Amino acid sequence: MNEGGRPVKAAVFNAVNEPLTIEDIEVAAPTGREVLVRTAASGVCHSDLHFIEGLYPIRTPAVLGHEAAGVVEAVGPNVAEFAPDDHVIACLSVFCGHCERCLSGQTQLCTQKPQRGPGETPVLSMGGQPVQQGFRLGAYGEQMLVHENAIVKINSDMPFAQAALIGCGVTTGVGAVLKTAKVEAGSTVVVFGAGGVGLAAIQGARIAGARRIIAVDMVEHKLATARELGATDSVDASIEDPVQKIRELTGGGADYTFECIGLKAVAEQAFEAIRPGGTATVVGMIPVGQSVEVPGAALLGEKKLQGSNMGSNQFKIDMPRYIEFYEQGRLRLDEMITKRGKLEDINEAFRAMKAGEVARTVLMHD
Ligand SMILES: [Zn+2]
Ligand SMILES: [Zn+2]
Repeated sequence: MNEGGRPVKAAVFNAVNEPLTIEDIEVAAPTGREVLVRTAASGVCHSDLHFIEGLYPIRTPAVLGHEAAGVVEAVGPNVAEFAPDDHVIACLSVFCGHCERCLSGQTQLCTQKPQRGPGETPVLSMGGQPVQQGFRLGAYGEQMLVHENAIVKINSDMPFAQAALIGCGVTTGVGAVLKTAKVEAGSTVVVFGAGGVGLAAIQGARIAGARRIIAVDMVEHKLATARELGATDSVDASIEDPVQKIRELTGGGADYTFECIGLKAVAEQAFEAIRPGGTATVVGMIPVGQSVEVPGAALLGEKKLQGSNMGSNQFKIDMPRYIEFYEQGRLRLDEMITKRGKLEDINEAFRAMKAGEVARTVLMHD
């Protein structure tokens, strides 16, 4: 057991478009409501790539990673909810619990996310210099020092790799369908992008009882996985116009569409593909500075375009529910883990992601 202050390994992001490097970093000991977690598994999520490619800004050096499960090692003096040896899932939707959004039940939109102030010892450091803790988690490190409102306790029989996926991709995709859009049974649903988040959205639509679930991607093996996990139809956008095909399959447009990639052009297609009165939900991260444009006249048809942040989660309630779905076989996570690796395999994991070879690589830290 390491109660903080001793060096641990982490993958450090130093500069845009450069490989991450494995370094020894120091993680501070927990104070107040902080919890020190030994990271057991970290999923490699596409959002980290946005930062590595410079599409979203972050100061460097930084430890990225935000999809993790692990074991509590030590707790600060004011922590009541957790004790050493508890198994937990981490979530970047850390919340304060007292701002207006939190008190309205929208903890994912908390405006006063707790974190150490500039005068305090940095959470992460390397050779005496501060290191940024990405997403207030830093899951590409062997330890994470987090606020107790950034983790949820889970049963110790839940496997870590599958639990890690619930930490971001699954909650984002399933939650976009069940919580942001609130898809009703019998609806027609389209999911653009059959990566980790898209496959979760497809499963969310299946759990919601959608009658038609159309997966759109440009890679056939991803569409095959989508069909295995619940898509009733698939459209290969590399060989046919997805909007035209969706209109054909749904008789004029879908009730709900979900953009799960983060591309302006696809978000615009998602809006085009809904019927009058339908709802398009953008789940992917559109690069900073880019606009999504829709034809103004289409708004006369009461078409809606909305964003979704981390599946509109109240993760301390939602994540245990998603685990129940997994245990019942209704949320299939084993099939979403394409590859397992070690922390040292992280650059290869990003390469495989960019090449469209994997739904998810999970890094195991033991
Ligand atoms: Zn993510
Ligand atoms: Zn808050």
